[in-house]
Amino acid sequence: MHAPPTIPAPGRPAASIDTPALVIDLDAMERNIARMAAFASAHGVAWRPHAKLHKCAQLAQRLVAAGAVGCCVQKTGEAEALAAAGMRDIYLSNQLVAPAKLARLVALAVRLQAEGGRLALAADSAHGIEQLAAAIAALPPARRPREALPVFVEINIGQDRCGAAPGAEALALAQQIGRHPALSFAGLHAYHGGAQHIRAYTERAQAMQEAYQQVVLTRTLLQAAGIAVPCITGAGTGTLVSEAASGLYTELQPGSFLFMDADYARNEWPVGAPAFEHALFVHTQVISRHAERAVCDAGHKSHAIDSGLPTVWNFGAPPALAFGNGGDEHGILTLAAGASAHPGTGGGLPALGETLWLVPGHCDPTVNLHDVMIGVRGGLREGVVEEVLRVDARGALG
Ligand code: PLP
Ligand code: MN
Repeated sequence: MHAPPTIPAPGRPAASIDTPALVIDLDAMERNIARMAAFASAHGVAWRPHAKLHKCAQLAQRLVAAGAVGCCVQKTGEAEALAAAGMRDIYLSNQLVAPAKLARLVALAVRLQAEGGRLALAADSAHGIEQLAAAIAALPPARRPREALPVFVEINIGQDRCGAAPGAEALALAQQIGRHPALSFAGLHAYHGGAQHIRAYTERAQAMQEAYQQVVLTRTLLQAAGIAVPCITGAGTGTLVSEAASGLYTELQPGSFLFMDADYARNEWPVGAPAFEHALFVHTQVISRHAERAVCDAGHKSHAIDSGLPTVWNFGAPPALAFGNGGDEHGILTLAAGASAHPGTGGGLPALGETLWLVPGHCDPTVNLHDVMIGVRGGLREGVVEEVLRVDARGALG
């Protein structure tokens, strides 16, 4: 075992945090939470933020304290880790078909129900629903969930990932759920992952308008068949303004708004969209310095690069440094086009030993690379360490 990361005690300057490290600007994060809560309440819609982003029970609970109805997770292990640390209302917004995972999920549902909580999950196949019912039937009656397990039917509204075809196929699944006394039809899951990062807002909203037609079609068919649709859940950070305005969705499930990655910052936002700020940073140090480049100690073992390389945070001003890929452990910093000096230095590039803050291209997989996130209060420059947040479900892939 390697030594645990050196975590400065509360009150120490943010700049003294050992590198590379994942750091939360707590003030910025709390402003994001307040903006999301105000947005949801202005639109009369519930919010159930996605914990796949932060994988941290404490943050999931803080979001509930701010008004969220619970959290979403994507993985059985995430549900288990967050429940173990106190989360009581969890929706697994994904497809499970493996009997072993379904048995774990049912066992967790029993525990949460006993504590007054709730575990729901999604389904998009007859096979998945039968496997779930079988996992419950395999238990002795006394160990089965006391209440029917809420199951959402996921419909494919454009991403062509999971999801039953809208319309007749979704209706058949809802009817199948209704035939199992141990299951209850909870509503429709209609999330369009493919639309979240369409840059132009009008194009993004247009993609969602087409998606909503599928939601309406399915809801109408279900209602005509006498099936009530108590909840329609979906939306990510990129499209939540549309879903909230659609009048269709009763619940929003964005995740990234909490930390806002560099890729989302490249989206165009409509008037009225909450002004979410970057709140998650990789603290990194210059470990090698040359006339035309400074090399820092954060590579793609510190941050995910699937949505582009990180940007070098210039505290809201256009970046003065360009981040180049230096491989697993390094970043190669050069002056950004048009910039003559990185601020805070004697001019030119940052000095050997100087530390910098990177904005990850994509926060979800970045968080999964770290054991802890260090919360800083009072800003990155002058602020101090306040707390350490564990990434409880780090590596929970199954
Ligand atoms: N819901 C589901 C089903 C998702 O897969 C995701 C993200 O991939 C989200 C919600 C949250 O989206 P975002 O992090 O872009 O807000
Ligand atoms: Mn993501």
